Amino acid sequence: MRFYNTLSKHIEEFKENEPGVVRMYVCGPTVYGLIHIGNARPMVVFDALRRYLEYRGYRVIMVQNFTDIDDKIINKSIEFSVDFKDISETFIAEYWRDSMALGVRAPNFSPKTSDFVPEIINAIQNLIAKNHAYVVDGDVYFSVRSFPRYGELSHRSIDELKAGARIDLNEKKRDPLDFALWKSAKPGEPYWKSPWGNGRPGWHIECSVMSTKLLGTTLDIHAGGEDLIFPHHENEKAQSEALTGKTFVKYWLHNGMIKYTGDKMSKSTGNIFLLREALKKYGADALKIFFLSKHYRSPIEFSEEALSSAAKAATRINETFLRFESEFSFAIPKQDSWINEKRSIFIDSLDDDFNTPRALALIFELVNSLNRAMDDGNERDALKIYHLLRREFCPVLGLFDLPERADNRSIEELVKILIDVRAELRAKKQYELSDMIRSKLRKVGIELKDMPQGTTYTFIKEV
Ligand SMILES: [Zn+2]
Repeated sequence: MRFYNTLSKHIEEFKENEPGVVRMYVCGPTVYGLIHIGNARPMVVFDALRRYLEYRGYRVIMVQNFTDIDDKIINKSIEFSVDFKDISETFIAEYWRDSMALGVRAPNFSPKTSDFVPEIINAIQNLIAKNHAYVVDGDVYFSVRSFPRYGELSHRSIDELKAGARIDLNEKKRDPLDFALWKSAKPGEPYWKSPWGNGRPGWHIECSVMSTKLLGTTLDIHAGGEDLIFPHHENEKAQSEALTGKTFVKYWLHNGMIKYTGDKMSKSTGNIFLLREALKKYGADALKIFFLSKHYRSPIEFSEEALSSAAKAATRINETFLRFESEFSFAIPKQDSWINEKRSIFIDSLDDDFNTPRALALIFELVNSLNRAMDDGNERDALKIYHLLRREFCPVLGLFDLPERADNRSIEELVKILIDVRAELRAKKQYELSDMIRSKLRKVGIELKDMPQGTTYTFIKEV
């Protein structure tokens, strides 16, 4: 298995620290609003990566944090005159609703910053003791000049980074690139007691502390969006390695951004397309196919057309599975060389820097083969392909894995009853009522077609 490592800028052979175990950390959301489709890309990609590592026999320990102390959360709590926890807990609950609807598995640990304040204070004390941090008026800053490898992850020297960064004229800092480990509390802000007075942690230190507390000194994989490389991950790396003197992360994996009319999608630019709206409109499998059909490191252009065509692909695959399940009986095929050959194509694709577009292309090809085998009444081949797709390849990518399938089936039973009722009405020439059924079904996304051999239906959108 090989991954592109942002640190080395090379594709590297994957070698975990402890045999058979992968310790993986993904930076999670700052919980001050509903998540948008841009947040969903790392969720889908790194959930699929975790599933794939498990498929390849690793035990994966995955941590994804919630940033629940932050300026944006505090501003919102002041705006609504509520405790910051009321804001963060509300949006953590909404995050779980969205991630479950997307069919992304919960990480093994989902730590919140506010639960780790004593550990964070302890880490900052150690950084001060090691001369990597200094205190000014109740604030504590990390000194980037104290860490000679600073800039290693972003592949820039401190001076180049300084030239590119927006310089904030904070005279308290010794170097403009120094960043806050601890911020003193302004009146009305939530605070924790510390050796430097009342205040709260800065953003970067939380990830260093929570990841190493839960996963140990060296993580196998640290993942996140490429917009986090600088300053967030550069700072995490500097803090962690300054503290432990050991390598913080073996493989840094970064996903490309979603582009929407050319700009990065984020809450701050206002280019928001809420995940739950996209889920309602296109369904989880369409969104996953949309994300996985591009390599995770490439930027992805958001467009309604791309999502609609992903939705069509999802419907086609789902209909193929439903057809198999209604025409053939469940059985487990014997392993043979054909299955092994397809399996190794699948594994080769994903071993190659997690090339999901190639793995998806194989899935699409096998869906065509499955339809052909069913057309030909070739039960043995159909069973093999169905099993490989349904039990192995799709679940590894997190596709067609949601419990809603059961609900979809009951909807289909209901549609069949309505079709029967409509046929009775038509036989009695009650066309007005039968047309009403058809047009009302169309409004909820179900299209009926009257054919010589009877009425068929298709889902024109997820219901
Ligand atoms: Zn982080």
